[in-house]
Amino acid sequence: MARVYNWQIGREMSYWYPESRPKRQFAAVFDTNKCIACQTCTLACKTTWTSGKGQEYMLWNNVETKPYGSYPLAWDLELLEVLNGGRWNGRTYEGETIFESAPAGARVLSWRPAAEDYAYPNVGEDDCAGQVDGGAGFSLPHMAWFYYLARICNHCTYPACLASCPRGSIYKRPEDGIVLVDQGRCRGYQECVKGCPYKKVYFNPMTGTSEKCIACFPKVETGLQPQCFVNCIGKIRMAGYISRPEAARPDNPIDYLVHVRKVALPLYPQFGLEPNVYYIPPVHVPPAFLRQMFGPGVDDAIETYRNAPNDPDLAGLLALFGSSESVMMRWARRGDEIVGADDRGTPLVRVLMREPVHVRPAFDRLYQITRTNCP
Ligand code: SF4
Ligand code: SF4
Repeated sequence: MARVYNWQIGREMSYWYPESRPKRQFAAVFDTNKCIACQTCTLACKTTWTSGKGQEYMLWNNVETKPYGSYPLAWDLELLEVLNGGRWNGRTYEGETIFESAPAGARVLSWRPAAEDYAYPNVGEDDCAGQVDGGAGFSLPHMAWFYYLARICNHCTYPACLASCPRGSIYKRPEDGIVLVDQGRCRGYQECVKGCPYKKVYFNPMTGTSEKCIACFPKVETGLQPQCFVNCIGKIRMAGYISRPEAARPDNPIDYLVHVRKVALPLYPQFGLEPNVYYIPPVHVPPAFLRQMFGPGVDDAIETYRNAPNDPDLAGLLALFGSSESVMMRWARRGDEIVGADDRGTPLVRVLMREPVHVRPAFDRLYQITRTNCP
């Protein structure tokens, strides 16, 4: 095994191939505080990419309610139970990753979901943690909580799907780090289905090959954000490119949120894949639950996010989410206006931090009517 550096766990680790980072890495930030579980993203992906035979059960994008929801069933709990580790010392992970804890003869610590594990994509939807007493919903605060976790392939820096494939059918594109399955090479051994700890590879029994999220690469190649991003009702998503921590650019939206402000965190960094979808953690959930899911940066991230009303740069950048179909490579705040731009600095979109308030008169003189929704 090669030794590679994984900045998310603050140390070197073992991986099956030498470190080979793409020219630039596709990445995303999801703000969990804004997701309403409308599943528009899920359907936007489904109707675009997985409406064919053999793809019925596939949800390249899914949204599950934590703590009880999961698709496929118990995808994270199964692995956390057998992962030999879990210890953090500050920002350094001292437990074993799924590569380091692989049993003899296996490339990664893995498990394979049963067919019925894919049968209940909405299991646990809107179920609260703990007991909810009658009437508790009308008084605040109460201890019942849940939140929505939207998930796509993480286009990991160290993909376990790629490491698991005995035919070399999975590759990471050098130009943007998007991870793809070569449908011509794949023979359907499904080692990738077992190997991906996020369970984001799906076997198609009609074609006999494995399939996964392709980050809408035909759109991304033309500078557009993927379908699940531009259709997001809650405007929780921003796509872009992430730099290594030492090369972070404050004017790159993803770098600013992940590296500069550290308000967006990877999902289960202890698995060791350096996943490239980053989450702003939900501020109302007990931090102990969030730490095992997003790592030791949770407390600082929540504090930073809660302070956003007094932090015009952060609040401004958050206002850019969902404002443009194009990938915003750069951003800047000019007073009350936030500008999203392409990589040459040409503005793509301008957003006001505070929307002007328009009060519509009850009686419309132009049309000589009274608006029914006005008092
Ligand atoms: S999330 Fe899973 S399928 Fe996606 S790149 Fe990582 S290991 Fe592969
Ligand atoms: S479309 Fe956006 S708000 Fe709706 S479920 Fe998906 S991520 Fe959440």
